[in-house]
Amino acid sequence: HKLIEGENLRKKLHNTILELKGNIRVFCRVRPLLPDDGAAEGAVVSYPTSMESLGRGIDLIQSGQKYPFTFDKVFNHEASQQDVFVEISQLVQSALDGYKVCIFAYGQTGSGKTYTMMGRPEAPEQQGLIPRSLEQIFQSSQSLQAQGWKYKMQASMLEIYNETIRDLLSTNRSISSDPVRPESAVSGKQYTIKHDANGNTYVSDLTIVDVSSLTEISSLLRQAAQSRSVGRTQMNEQSSRSHMVFTLRISGINEGTEQQVQGVLNLIDLAGSERLSRSGATGDRLKETQAINKSLSCLSDVIFALAKKEDHVPFRNSKLTYLLQASEEEASSSSKLKKKKINVISGNMTKFNKSTSGKRWA
Ligand code: ADP
Repeated sequence: HKLIEGENLRKKLHNTILELKGNIRVFCRVRPLLPDDGAAEGAVVSYPTSMESLGRGIDLIQSGQKYPFTFDKVFNHEASQQDVFVEISQLVQSALDGYKVCIFAYGQTGSGKTYTMMGRPEAPEQQGLIPRSLEQIFQSSQSLQAQGWKYKMQASMLEIYNETIRDLLSTNRSISSDPVRPESAVSGKQYTIKHDANGNTYVSDLTIVDVSSLTEISSLLRQAAQSRSVGRTQMNEQSSRSHMVFTLRISGINEGTEQQVQGVLNLIDLAGSERLSRSGATGDRLKETQAINKSLSCLSDVIFALAKKEDHVPFRNSKLTYLLQASEEEASSSSKLKKKKINVISGNMTKFNKSTSGKRWA
């Protein structure tokens, strides 16, 4: 119900994403109408109402015209958090196998991105993709211990607001209430994106926490959610206009077989994709909306370049894409197992491995 009408940016992202087919999957989730949605007006979507007959198509109906869209799968308003998780659980598993994976939630503010990614932690059945993914990773890593695997996991969580990075896991976080004065100016921390000796991107001064249990990570998520909601009040709803990036780095070693894996799972709640013309924004708000549109557009450019296998992928054009870049050097210096398993790595968007095609995707 909250899908936005024909907007160039949305179409561009959508079309680029469809180009990728095997490398990336795109799901559409329609959230239920909420009491304060008021009367439905403007765009209306139509889709099969029974879960059994739900397919891949959705029609956007505007001024009596039907605009069909095709996805890998459409979830209707009755789909549960578990229904959505089942579709992505294989991808989550890939991170444990040494793949670099990204899951993005994209849509207008209020369309259910945060609900889908984080959910409502107080109700287990309403937990979102992030807690469910972590639970799966910890459970699987424990069962793999029987085969000699030992894993080390490190978590970080940040927000990118107006091209400025904010640390969501910092325990002594100072929050700037001034939208033009970034947090780093208050805390003295320099959250800049750098490359390490292996060419991996990292953020300087960012809190990285070693996590060894689901309980630990659940408390981190609560802390981050709190940081985000404090930010939300103090910074005039900035959260819906920032990208939230949760990263779990997974290093696995099998002492028996000498295999090693280095996987990364990025779970990203993108900023709202509102249209400039409809947002009625002026001044600072206009700048913000432009920054969001620019970074979403840069993301689209990167996906497009990866899809087309272009020599130059414009990772550096936005903080989000720069951060998600994983270098080619990393691929060439990686472990025996990873060399065997992955043919090409471009950024965090792992390409299909032909030898396992049909199973692996990112
Ligand atoms: P966004 O992150 O896209 O701005 P939210 O996730 O905050 O949107 O969702 C807006 C509101 O809709 C919240 O109150 C959320 O709990 C509710 N909501 C979103 N999706 C669902 C859903 N599938 N089922 C029930 N409530 C939902």
